[in-house]
Amino acid sequence: MDKFEQTMQNMAKMPLQEGMKTLQEEMDKCMCGQCPTYTNAARASGESFFCGTGKSFRHITTQVNCLCAGCPVKSDLGLKYVSFCMRGSEKTQRYDQTAKKT
Ligand code: SF4
Ligand code: SF4
Repeated sequence: MDKFEQTMQNMAKMPLQEGMKTLQEEMDKCMCGQCPTYTNAARASGESFFCGTGKSFRHITTQVNCLCAGCPVKSDLGLKYVSFCMRGSEKTQRYDQTAKKT
């Protein structure tokens, strides 16, 4: 089990309030809002934290750059992937890679 899987398991075991607080603390660190790929439409819709929520809902269609590799959430949660607004959440990209191997 890697860090991401362990972290997800630990968060699932937390009492609801503690889990929500931990999640909010990570969401507050999201750097998407400073990324050149991020759009005003995404901001107006309140989209961010794509590693957890998945692809942007049509508000981001072209990747200019990605700040995920330098985001503190990457090391906090043990994320392996990047470009979540275009490619889907960490869970989705993990699933896609596993599906490709089978
Ligand atoms: S890893 Fe990327 S999507 Fe996830 S919180 Fe950081 S900047 Fe946002
Ligand atoms: S997921 Fe990556 S590419 Fe998309 S807005 Fe966030 S930092 Fe930029």
